[in-house]
Amino acid sequence: METYDTLLPPITPANRRTRPILNPATGGEVGLAPVHDIADLDRAVVTAALVQPAWAALSHQTRSEVLLKAADAIERSSEALARLLSQEQGKPLNGPNARFEVASCATWLRAAATTPLDPEVVVDDGQTRAELHYRPIGVVGAIGPWNWPMLITIWQIGPALRMGNAVVVKPSEYTPLSVLALINVINQELPDGLLTVISGGRDVGARMAEHPAIGKIMFTGSTATGKAIIRSSADTVKRLTLELGGNDAGIVLPDADPKAIAQGLFWGAFINAGQTCAALKRLYVHEDIYDAVCEELTKVAAAMPMGPGLDENNVLGPLQNRAQFDIVDRLVKAAKESGARILLGGNPDYDQPGNFYPTTLVADIDNDNPLVVEEQFGPALPIIKYSTVDEAVAKANGLDVGLGASVWSSDLATARKVASRLEAGTVWINSHGMVNPMIPFGGSKQSGYGLEFGVEGLKALGIPQVING
Ligand code: NAD
Repeated sequence: METYDTLLPPITPANRRTRPILNPATGGEVGLAPVHDIADLDRAVVTAALVQPAWAALSHQTRSEVLLKAADAIERSSEALARLLSQEQGKPLNGPNARFEVASCATWLRAAATTPLDPEVVVDDGQTRAELHYRPIGVVGAIGPWNWPMLITIWQIGPALRMGNAVVVKPSEYTPLSVLALINVINQELPDGLLTVISGGRDVGARMAEHPAIGKIMFTGSTATGKAIIRSSADTVKRLTLELGGNDAGIVLPDADPKAIAQGLFWGAFINAGQTCAALKRLYVHEDIYDAVCEELTKVAAAMPMGPGLDENNVLGPLQNRAQFDIVDRLVKAAKESGARILLGGNPDYDQPGNFYPTTLVADIDNDNPLVVEEQFGPALPIIKYSTVDEAVAKANGLDVGLGASVWSSDLATARKVASRLEAGTVWINSHGMVNPMIPFGGSKQSGYGLEFGVEGLKALGIPQVING
């Protein structure tokens, strides 16, 4: 079997500084990450700018063919990539986790490679003819988080490359190895220098946002960092796509069937142990079925095995880092202290080597509790009781973020009406967080701006140009 060490690029030169990356389930070492700095970034940007015009000069068809070969390369190395991802990020191999993430990388790359984008004739009335084209931007910077490190990288680089750009990627300092290995595999098919990973810290990200030779930043991460990027990109009037934090609400209407929706609610909230931007993070349940929903959800949640990712039985892993563990721990403690009722979990073992926080369900909690109003980004779900749909909608819309939301009901027409009242980039009905490479995805309010996926996602990686005449 291919091992992941063979997928990591060699660390050069010999005196390059490195740092160990530890497995969040065990504390053991996964591998050494190079420590890149701003000089490395500047070199990568210069090279990218040199090789980009030749890539841009190729047809969409030719670039597509290259990217399809890169998707095949990901599939060939998929098991080794999944094992690395599992050990560095913590997510198990099975369930909607590491193997799923790697397989999705190939799916999204193929979609970015093959989605048609032809020039659009916007006016042709006999006197005026105007066509809308999309030109390459040049060098794109991709800055990513640690929760879905491989897939989010593909979401950023797939459309960027397809549209004729070069890309410099800065992965999260928590999960650089996954991204280094993934891009090493993709680079088996790409021209040298077109796609580079700079494994640096926040200073490197900040420099990318102000870099005069980078035309666009694709950023996925917290709202606070997104705001910093807006500020530091101002002087170069950089294009930005910002996929920021969320605190998604789900509303269970009184006609929903608690047993039928329990599994969907569980995965909506606990996929990747809750470390997912568009996970269900606040659940509003009508008082008539509140107890039944709590009971069914507890049954499902209690049966889901959590443990080290390489154990084939597990479907839930640890928190990726101790800082995130501490956030979840603080928020659950605040909920307990306020008198909320713990249905499940809430009792981590602080002496274990890993960052495991048990699956936690919290009932009878007020809407202004910190576990409700702050993004927990972990396996702890507050369940809030409501009496009227107007009240639930007002509470769901009450925060300044709006990435996703969901409505759960046995009646589609009613659910759609409620969905249309929610302030969120996507509202799912009877599911939560299901993304698709052909369906545009993006946030409203302080969850960011710009769309990814589908033809909208391709357009976001080009500069619109009107040819009039
Ligand atoms: P983060 O904002 O701390 O870090 C993200 C990246 O930004 C890292 O690579 C980091 O090094 C870099 N960075 C830090 N400071 C920077 C600066 N000043 N300039 C440029 N780059 C800088 O986020 P995180 O903790 O890694 O990720 C979790 C957050 O990401 C959560 O809020 C989650 O909701 C959000 N997220 C959003 C989406 C989405 O699609 N909307 C997807 C995944 C995660």
